[in-house]
Amino acid sequence: MKFVIVSKGDERSNKIKATMKQYLLEFGLEYDDEKPELCISVGGDGTFLEAFHRYVHCLKSTAFIGVHTGHLGFYADWTPNEVEKLIIEIAKTPFQIVEYPLLEVIIRPQSGEKEERFLALNESMIKTSEGSVVFDVEIKGEHFETFRGDGLCISTPSGSTAYNKALGGGIIHPSIEAIQLTEMASINNRVFRTIGSPLILPSHHTCLLKPMVEKSFLISIDHFTANFNNVKSIQCRVAKERVRFARFRPFPFWHRVRESFVSDDKHGG
Ligand code: NAD
Repeated sequence: MKFVIVSKGDERSNKIKATMKQYLLEFGLEYDDEKPELCISVGGDGTFLEAFHRYVHCLKSTAFIGVHTGHLGFYADWTPNEVEKLIIEIAKTPFQIVEYPLLEVIIRPQSGEKEERFLALNESMIKTSEGSVVFDVEIKGEHFETFRGDGLCISTPSGSTAYNKALGGGIIHPSIEAIQLTEMASINNRVFRTIGSPLILPSHHTCLLKPMVEKSFLISIDHFTANFNNVKSIQCRVAKERVRFARFRPFPFWHRVRESFVSDDKHGG
């Protein structure tokens, strides 16, 4: 089996990467950073997102797994103490695969330039560098509201525990094929009115954002942000692609949510 290891780059992560690489090679696995079947990230959730985007072009053939060298991550959920066990599990392939939905974002310019398509594992955020964003929000081809405020966050189910949660969005189990739209400080008064609640859209519903005044936006896809000028529309929906996780032991989503946000004490408390 072909594998690759993406490290956060700090001393501890690099050391774990070197140990894992050496043992997996000794077990007869092949290191391949072009088209790996297994991508191991060593660092935190940020490193996992980095690894996902590095291999986003070969999601069908690449499975991901994360080791954390800081605190427990949502994607990076193996501890450095468990690395030996993980190496043996990987060497025993084949492994079980769990798939989660992704968000597709298509940014269309006013004219001339080509549209750009992105996949997000956590979310996309649409903001502006100054003032408020104002856009018409269409859902499934029909006008829903005119949004005015700091911006909108559109997240995947596995990203619902990330920025979306900080904005008051709901946590969605990743077995549900959906995306969630969460407002960032919407203006609500007699002139402007938005729904105010997070919206959860099923996989066959598309959300289209059409700028009203300003055409320049700061758009983030997971951990990176860029400025897009001359934007005609931003289309969001559940992607046809899915992310594949290599699973070597059960770690149910709700356990992860509980351990990250409520308590890591197994007996409650
Ligand atoms: P980062 O890598 O430093 O991550 C910031 C925090 O978000 C870390 O504690 C990380 O473990 C956590 N995180 C990332 N994905 C998560 C998920 N799916 N569920 C629960 N927690 C998650 O920051 P970065 O590299 O700049 O951004 C990566 C991601 O971090 C973004 O996609 C965003 O969702 C998240 N983030 C969240 C907040 C917030 O909650 N206020 C702020 C910044 C970034």
